[in-house]
Amino acid sequence: MEYNTFIWIAIFAIGAALVNTLGIFVIYKHKRFAEKAKIYLMCFAAGVLISIPLMFAFPQAVQKNFYAGFAALAGFLFMFFSNYIIKRKSKKEELAFGITTIEGIGIHSFMDGVIYTVTFTASIFIGFLSGIGLVIHEFAEGIITFSILIKGGLKKKKAAFYAFLVAALTTPLGAFIAYPFISKLNESILGLALGFVVGVLVYISAAHLLPKAREQEKQHSILAFLAGVALALFIVFTKLF
Ligand SMILES: [Zn+2]
Repeated sequence: MEYNTFIWIAIFAIGAALVNTLGIFVIYKHKRFAEKAKIYLMCFAAGVLISIPLMFAFPQAVQKNFYAGFAALAGFLFMFFSNYIIKRKSKKEELAFGITTIEGIGIHSFMDGVIYTVTFTASIFIGFLSGIGLVIHEFAEGIITFSILIKGGLKKKKAAFYAFLVAALTTPLGAFIAYPFISKLNESILGLALGFVVGVLVYISAAHLLPKAREQEKQHSILAFLAGVALALFIVFTKLF
């Protein structure tokens, strides 16, 4: 059972890194196509990532620990303030190459890895559901990281390499570093960890992916978002009934 959980975490965390790398590769080769695909994938991922925590992961977290709602709030606030600090810092060093933004992406991608470990440890099904949304958003993340590095003045090859280090490699790293700790938690503490992750996912989808995608393209992005919601509903219903 535990062995099984670890295998799933490894598959999704390494899969995430591969999809991220694919994103970097596609924007390296086909810039315009990548920019377009990025918006739709962000919206689609947002649809999945808002639905799963609210419908499924959050009730499960509360079942494990009645106070999981506090942890969810903490997760949301954690994301809010870490983003706030990074934005403020990066404004001050605007000309200095966007190091802080890149740091932020590194931390975020590392957290993505931790999320795989927490959700799969809570249940393979929750891990699987949130994993779908997360892996899809990795594609966009690779593209975004590459673009930031290019804006910072890096040559294409260097930008691709650093994007791989910061955005792709950090995700399995986070998953594997978190595993020894998370796998030892008892049910009740795991409920809090899952609650925290719910807050993080709600932030990523509602406050990060959606606004970013919608400022560029309005009409079709809503369809992509709803398709993500529909997919999540479909999978949850087929599991429940
Ligand atoms: Zn991410």
